[in-house]
Amino acid sequence: MLRRTLKVGILAALFITAALLAAPANTAWASPAVGNSFAVCPCGAVFVPDSTTKYLEANGKRYACCSEGCYKMAMLDQAGSAKLAEDNMAKAMSQARVDVGVANVIAVNEKGATALCGCGTEFTLGAMTPYLKYGGKTYACCSQACHDLAAKDPAAGAKMIEAKLAQKMP
Ligand SMILES: [Zn+2]
Ligand SMILES: [Zn+2]
Repeated sequence: MLRRTLKVGILAALFITAALLAAPANTAWASPAVGNSFAVCPCGAVFVPDSTTKYLEANGKRYACCSEGCYKMAMLDQAGSAKLAEDNMAKAMSQARVDVGVANVIAVNEKGATALCGCGTEFTLGAMTPYLKYGGKTYACCSQACHDLAAKDPAAGAKMIEAKLAQKMP
């Protein structure tokens, strides 16, 4: 009796583990659970997936399609459409990096833009991020304290951020 229960228990545990492992790996570009994450359709459209979004599955990843029509097209050539989605995503990322217009952004991905503060902290830009403006450039600061410190002497603050950037990306 006990043995049987144990076996079922192990099976259930394995199943749960498999489900947990499968979940994050499959949502390559966008998770419908994350409200502000966006996806790029194989057609090149950038959009925020919702509960009606259909996904193409290829290479162990999921690619959100912007419309029923795109999904049907993608199903005709799954590998090719997955590659298109990857290419378009790369283009959207580099474009987003330009659009952000913040001098100390070091990376942009589907979760947002990462910036390097003068204090050496890497952080994600958000609604609360304070900005230092100096020399026609905009620098994001990781905290209000860092911003206030830099704002006391913007020239020195900007120089400090530029120095950190130079260290990070020579
Ligand atoms: Zn599309
Ligand atoms: Zn800082």
